[in-house]
Amino acid sequence: MTDVRIDRVTKYFGEMKAINNADIHIEEGEFFTLLGPSGCGKTTLLRALAGFYRQDEGDIYFGEKCINDLPAHNRNIGMVFQSYAIFPHMSVFDNVAYGLKARKVKKQEIQRRVMEALEMVELAHLKDRQPSQMSGGQQQRIALARAIVIHPGLLLMDEPLSNLDAKLRLKMRSDIRELQKRLHITTVYVTHDQEEALAVSDRIAVLNNGEIQQIGKPYEIYLRPRNKFVANFIGTTNFLDGELVQRVAGESVVKVEGVEYPVSINQSYEGKVIYSVRPEQIKMKKPETKLAGVFLQGMIKETMFLGEKVEYTVELASGKSVSIHEHAISYRDLMNEGEKIEFYINPEEAIIYSESGEEALNLHGNA
Ligand code: ATP
Repeated sequence: MTDVRIDRVTKYFGEMKAINNADIHIEEGEFFTLLGPSGCGKTTLLRALAGFYRQDEGDIYFGEKCINDLPAHNRNIGMVFQSYAIFPHMSVFDNVAYGLKARKVKKQEIQRRVMEALEMVELAHLKDRQPSQMSGGQQQRIALARAIVIHPGLLLMDEPLSNLDAKLRLKMRSDIRELQKRLHITTVYVTHDQEEALAVSDRIAVLNNGEIQQIGKPYEIYLRPRNKFVANFIGTTNFLDGELVQRVAGESVVKVEGVEYPVSINQSYEGKVIYSVRPEQIKMKKPETKLAGVFLQGMIKETMFLGEKVEYTVELASGKSVSIHEHAISYRDLMNEGEKIEFYINPEEAIIYSESGEEALNLHGNA
């Protein structure tokens, strides 16, 4: 196993920078995910790690070793793709054995290692089957066994679950995560599915237009998005128009929907801001609520009852709408369309972005 350092890597296709100055250090045994919308450069970065593309600038290290000039077949990498890329008319066993045979591993050793890998993906009992007679999930397990059987230093996965149906996807993602933990194998995983990324990763890099927007643990990315793009891409977020006014040095006041309160910001800034808060961070004010903080008023425009939660769309005095999600509500608390309500935002949870959306103004340090 190895750690991986991507050091100021840039890759062009013609004039276009598919990856711009990426800096990432992936730790040994880490499950690291590249997440972003279609075309953001995830696959390009993965291919540079695999050795299928040579970056135009910057260096890639596996451990201490710079592998810029190391050909793909010498990088000791296991790969799993969206398309299973297995040989349909070879048995399951022969598919998994393929890489070991190519490496001229002894027959007995092949037998032992293939069976070990097949057991890990729970396919040992189907070793003589042809993949063409197997389900998508089983075929992806063959691909996974084939990737791990060579004992790779690095496992690369490019949207491995995309072709599976929703239920199987959930099962496979927890199986992959469990196997990865058991083998302690450094893994780089590509997906555009934010929920999948949050569920499986130790850390995530969010990319957009070839640039890394943020690197962090799932809860950091979700609760402390560094810019509007990340806040918008991961989960659902309410964005309201706000204004930041500096009162005295180091003390600012934010105004939102006619309410103002003091905030601590990380730089000198005055003017329009984007006020952002997640739907589940907003609390309905009940008669017994004794919170001090930011209270806003509105009217319920839509109530969507989803069983375990209720999603309200609330219209504010400004005409803007916010989404509020409530969990574990009781029959008595259910609100109807047309009802006037008051709700509460915890000032510590709301994030204030500069007008351009590029910077979070009230995040401090590593928070
Ligand atoms: P997706 O989720 O759709 O696979 P991605 O994030 O993996 O997208 P990449 O495949 O890395 O994105 O592509 C990044 C950018 O580089 C895109 O604008 C794409 O059109 C472009 N690109 C990718 N491969 C090539 C290529 N071989 N030649 C020219 N342009 C390319």
